[in-house]
Amino acid sequence: MAPPRIAPRRSLDALPAYLPGKPSEDADVFKVSSNESPFPPPQVIADAIATSLQQINRYPDMGVVAPRRALAGEFDLPVSRVAVGAGSVAVLGQLVHALCEPGDEVVYAWRSFEAYPVVTGVAAATPVQVPLDSHYRHDLEAMAAAITERTRIVILCSPNNPTGTTISQAEVDALLAQVPEHVLVVIDEAYREFVDGAEHVDALATFRAHHNVAVLRTFSKVQGLAGLRIGYGFAPEAVVEGILKVAPPFGVSLPAQAAAIASLTHEAEVEFGHRVRALVGERQRVRAGLLEQGWADRPGGLPDSQGNFVFLPLCQDGPEFMDFAMDRGLIVRCYGHDGVRVTIDVEKANDRFLEICREWIGRSGTTA
Ligand SMILES: *Cc1c(COP(=O)(O)O)cnc(C)c1O
Repeated sequence: MAPPRIAPRRSLDALPAYLPGKPSEDADVFKVSSNESPFPPPQVIADAIATSLQQINRYPDMGVVAPRRALAGEFDLPVSRVAVGAGSVAVLGQLVHALCEPGDEVVYAWRSFEAYPVVTGVAAATPVQVPLDSHYRHDLEAMAAAITERTRIVILCSPNNPTGTTISQAEVDALLAQVPEHVLVVIDEAYREFVDGAEHVDALATFRAHHNVAVLRTFSKVQGLAGLRIGYGFAPEAVVEGILKVAPPFGVSLPAQAAAIASLTHEAEVEFGHRVRALVGERQRVRAGLLEQGWADRPGGLPDSQGNFVFLPLCQDGPEFMDFAMDRGLIVRCYGHDGVRVTIDVEKANDRFLEICREWIGRSGTTA
């Protein structure tokens, strides 16, 4: 039989095929592999979702105007500079689609968020990956040097997923001083609320001060709406127009829009404040435990994570650690031969993680 002639375009061959995750039926297994919030939605959000269901026979507003207005009010921006999509990953994907012709270049750090190569490849743009420095931080000088005539977008992730390191205002300012006008600098700050004590760029102020800066934010992490799919961004007006043009029709559901608006209420924000403080406290406790176990003395050290997760630079031992943790009821995320990322969750899950780390480091005997 002749081989099938219909196949996806060749440039998609480089992208990872979808691999179903391993869902756990076991109630005593903690899934700490996706940086999700361990908390259910606050009542005000649950109520808004329930009310929205009464209108689910209607299409949602395609321009996502109500949440965009609410966000514009919250951050004192014109609606025309606020984009909302089905998750901030979708906003970024639309942004790349809107800006890049095939072969245009998108510069980002590596290792960084796994969605960056995907959104770049889907748009048939060319990824330019700039290695993190030896402290797992963005190397902004190298990123500036990687910009060419074909570069349309530079993505910065702060705190960086998966290493948790932040980018300072001075570093971003120095980059912007070198970036040509035709390049949009996108700052993805999905984990901004979890930053405590590290220098971190003020992305919104930077956006206000420059014509070629955009910011991405999400409702998936602190607000715990990962399952509803809604995220947003601030971008120059023409970029927002492009993002809306390439949007999948009616992509942001009515419950998602209602939940996002409810999450901006005072009541919800007070609750999120408590949750962030609890998770940051747990992250600090976990870090202290890891330091006490000697993880900072291993090759690669222990990056200072400012997200709702920690990163263990296990290098080639990553896959083995992942299995080791799995056998002990903890599902973690392994990044090839770079390391393992573990989400900060409820106290019991974090205790189990520390226990597993203690057993691992004792067994492998690699403390300095
Ligand atoms: C989780 C995460 C997001 C959020 O994605 P959504 O599509 O809004 O769920 C964005 N950027 C980074 C770096 C993330 O880790």
